[in-house]
Amino acid sequence: MEHGVVRIHRRGVERIYSGHLWVYRSDVRDTGDSLSGDIVSVIDSRDRVVGKAFYSSRSQIALRFLSRGDVSINEAFFRNRFEAADALRERLGVDPFLSRRIFSEGDLLPGLIVDRYGDVLVVQSLCQATDRLQPFLIASLQERYRPRTIILRNDTRVRDLEGLPQLVELIGEPLAEPIIVEEDGRRVPLLLSSGQKTGSYLDQRENRRAARRYARGIALDAFCHSGGFALQIAERCQRVDAVDISEQAIETGRAAATLNDIANVQFIARNAFDFLREQSDSGSPYDMIILDPPAFAKSKESLPGAIRGYKEINLRAMKLLQPQGFLVTCSCSHHLSEGLFAETLADAARDCGRLFRVIERRTQSPDHPILLSVPETYYLKCFIVQICT
Ligand code: SAH
Repeated sequence: MEHGVVRIHRRGVERIYSGHLWVYRSDVRDTGDSLSGDIVSVIDSRDRVVGKAFYSSRSQIALRFLSRGDVSINEAFFRNRFEAADALRERLGVDPFLSRRIFSEGDLLPGLIVDRYGDVLVVQSLCQATDRLQPFLIASLQERYRPRTIILRNDTRVRDLEGLPQLVELIGEPLAEPIIVEEDGRRVPLLLSSGQKTGSYLDQRENRRAARRYARGIALDAFCHSGGFALQIAERCQRVDAVDISEQAIETGRAAATLNDIANVQFIARNAFDFLREQSDSGSPYDMIILDPPAFAKSKESLPGAIRGYKEINLRAMKLLQPQGFLVTCSCSHHLSEGLFAETLADAARDCGRLFRVIERRTQSPDHPILLSVPETYYLKCFIVQICT
C-alpha cells in the first residue's frame, strides 16, 4: 500500500511530535516521486522516519498522519483502526445502528467519515488517499457492517481543495428515501443521498436529549433543519415553532411530525435572522429557544463577521426569553473556540441587560471524538443557559 518518501522541515516535525496529524505544504521540503493520494514515509532532515501519512498533491494540508514511527501501513493496520473505532462506540453505548462509526482524525483515520443508519452506511472520502483506497475501504466496511446499501456522499466542498470531483454514488440495493430511523422514541425520516451533511446531525444527538430535560411552555427551534430538536422536545411543550431556511428540510420536518402524531410543532420556512427580528418587534416570548445555526466562520478570516452573527442571534433570542427561560445555543465553527463563544454570549447578555447562568457546557456527541492535540476536531459547542432575572 505504501509508496513515496516526503521530507519535511523541522517545523513540520515539531508539529507532529506535538500531537497534530497535519503538515502543511509550506513545511514540506521535497516530495520525491510521491503521487497524489500515496501513503508515504515522512522523513526529517537526517533521514529519520517521522511516520506514515496520506499525501495530497493539491491541498494546503500536504500530509495527514496515520501513525508516527516506522509502522507498516497495510490492510491489518486499517483493520485495527476500524476495530478500535468500533470498540469505542461499544463502550460509549451508542446505538450501533444510529451513530458515527468513523470520525476521520478523531479515529486516527484522516479523511474518512462513516455514519450508520440502520442497514445503510453513508461514507465520505475527504482526501486524495481515501479516494485511492476507496475499493479497499468499501470492501472492509461491507465485511464489517454488512450494509444493504452504501451511499458515497462525496459531494462535500472540502473535496474541491483536494482537486477531487463532487459525486454521490450508491453501492448495493437501491434505496427508497426517506428512510426512517428511530432516535429516542421518535421516528425520523432521513434523506441520506441528498440531505445536508450525511443526511442528519448525529453530532447533536446528546444535545437534543439534554434540551428535552429543560423544555416546557412555548419553544422556538431556530435553524431547525427537519426539527431534530423540535420533535424531541414537543411532548413537553405547549407549542414549538421550528424555523429553517431550507424548504426541503421543512418539508421533511412536517412529514416527521405527521409520522410521530405530533401536532404542536409549527414548521416555518424562513430566514431565522428575519424571524428573530420580527418576533423581537412583536415581543412574543418563549420559554425555550434553541439556536443551532450552520458554521458562520468557515475560515479564520471570516471570524469577526461570524462573531457579529452569533452575537446578533443570541442577543435577539435572549431578549425573547420569558423569566426562567432556557437558551440552548450552539456553534459548529471550529474556528470559534469555546472561550470566544462564551465571550460572545456574555457580550450578548450584557447588551440584553439581563442575568444568565450557564447550566451546561456541552459538545459534539462522543462518537465524534475530539483529539486534544488537533483543535480542528473540536468543532461543536453547545451552551445551555438560563435567564435568572
Ligand atoms: N438542529 C438541527 C441541525 C441544524 S443545521 C438538528 O439537530 O437536526 C443548520 C440549519 O440551518 C440547516 O438546516 C440550514 O438549512 C439552516 N440555515 C442556514 N442558514 C439559515 C438561515 N439564515 N435561516 C434559517 N435557517 C438557516
